Amino acid sequence: MNDYDPVNWPEGNRVAVMLSFDFDAETLWLSRDPANAKRPGTLSQGTYGAKVGVPKILETLDGCGVPATFFVPGWTAEHHGGACEAILRGGHEIGHHGYLHEWIDPDFPEREEEALVKGLDALKATLGVTPTGYRSPAWETSPNMIALLRRHGFAYDSSLMDTVNPYRHTLADGSEGPVELPVHWSLDDAPFALFSVRAPRTIVTNDHMMQVWQDEFREIYRWGGLFNLTMHPQVTGRPSRIALLREFIGWMRTFPGVWFARGGEVAAAWSATRT
Ligand code: ZN
Repeated sequence: MNDYDPVNWPEGNRVAVMLSFDFDAETLWLSRDPANAKRPGTLSQGTYGAKVGVPKILETLDGCGVPATFFVPGWTAEHHGGACEAILRGGHEIGHHGYLHEWIDPDFPEREEEALVKGLDALKATLGVTPTGYRSPAWETSPNMIALLRRHGFAYDSSLMDTVNPYRHTLADGSEGPVELPVHWSLDDAPFALFSVRAPRTIVTNDHMMQVWQDEFREIYRWGGLFNLTMHPQVTGRPSRIALLREFIGWMRTFPGVWFARGGEVAAAWSATRT
């Protein structure tokens, strides 16, 4: 069976839609440069995600009646507990996203486990959550990290771009690892709308993003696969992008057989087709 063959989703659905939000908050800038701790202007880009982005996204998801998955760094859970609790109250899943949004460095495997454990402890202590899903910050990962995920009981990872549909990792010793729920830059709001002073890029219109996402969706729908959309509260939480989110969900719902599901449900449903 090929990685791109149709998946037998629950209840005869044609496509699984995983709406995911990486709730970086200030960690995106704190991890890039510790000196940013003294730059409230820089950090305010992330603060926006907690103050406005998450509440508006939750309101939009609730209005559309669809669930989502939020990948939350441990630091974010410690500093924005109210926003995280609102995510849980909305019935959404919380996954692991590092502690301070650390980029994986394959030369220092001990740091990988340190960040993983610190993030796990923070989510447990602040929210009482033991996540089953992991998304690596900036989608940088390593074979060591994939093995760590299994050792720490994760059911799935969502960090790699090597295919469209889910698959199961094989560890170095040949044993089974977590399920992978693949991602891609074209299904991410950041390349289109996250501005960076250091690496300036054009902020595109909703029409542009809608076009790329709809084109991807139509074909993934035809393939019968997984549509895994990555967004960020500091990006999609902006007023115009909230409208985009609402309109895009509404557009996808015009197709028959679209299953909106959290990451854990997608991984479990895919695994069930392989047993
Ligand atoms: Zn992130």
